[in-house]
Amino acid sequence: MTALARPRPIMGVYEKPFWEAVQQRELRLQRCRNCDHVWYPPGPVCPSCLSDDWRWDRMSGRGRVIAWTVFHRQYFRELPVPYLVVSVALEEGPLLIANILGVEPAAMRLDMAVHVEFEPARSADGDWLIYQWAPD
Ligand SMILES: [Zn+2]
Repeated sequence: MTALARPRPIMGVYEKPFWEAVQQRELRLQRCRNCDHVWYPPGPVCPSCLSDDWRWDRMSGRGRVIAWTVFHRQYFRELPVPYLVVSVALEEGPLLIANILGVEPAAMRLDMAVHVEFEPARSADGDWLIYQWAPD
């Protein structure tokens, strides 16, 4: 499979474990041990109860489309326009944004069932994996 050209995300201390899991073809988010809340983006404490007792928990990778947009303005040299950016509500609750594979804008539907797929990507500093949505 041809690697998609993608810029690397800015990697903070809380984003690093997320992207390390993606490299293992796993979607992992923080889950609170105190109240079971799951959240994204990553951070130091549970946004629901402020506990700092949490773990990186493997997600189902399944969700439903809640919104999408077509980018016509080019922000990254690696991403030619137009392209779809899709917001998905995971079964576990949090919203995650990515591109969607194999769907034309006119075919997008609210509440479309999707699952995560891991795709090879290429940056100036090497190859890696990114997560993308795909229709069920
Ligand atoms: Zn909590």
